[in-house]
Amino acid sequence: MPEPTEWYRTIETGVESLKARIGAPDARDYHLDRFLKMARRVDEFAPTCPKCRLFQPEIDKMLRDLAANAPQILKEQKRTFLGGMEAILSHLHKGHKLISEGQNLAIWLSIGTAMGLALGGAFQNPAIGIPIGVGLSIAIGSVLDAQAQKEDKVI
Ligand SMILES: [Zn+2]
Repeated sequence: MPEPTEWYRTIETGVESLKARIGAPDARDYHLDRFLKMARRVDEFAPTCPKCRLFQPEIDKMLRDLAANAPQILKEQKRTFLGGMEAILSHLHKGHKLISEGQNLAIWLSIGTAMGLALGGAFQNPAIGIPIGVGLSIAIGSVLDAQAQKEDKVI
């Protein structure tokens, strides 16, 4: 990843000071760590992605709005904040192929369970099929997650 820009550093400072004002439990509740990671990625892609460039002022505004009457944050503000994050993260997932931590494992576990059920049906014994399906999917999902981690594709 390239060095963070001045823009990102400003966001980082803003998030740190907001955290100090609202406390750790609320910071978790508003997913501020995730917000910061998201900003870091937007910062990384902004030079080549017009959409990410447009997200920068939006991220500024989201943080400003949330901080406006902290530590008293209204339900409405929380909803807007988390909704805005959702939209930006969705772009990072779809547009830049980033995945969430453990995403491959979760996907493969559901495939593996279905496979295991089918296999168990074939053997007429689910007790045989499911452990095979789940074991296989844990192996595949973990390898894919480790690979994504190595390629710096995890947000
Ligand atoms: Zn982008």
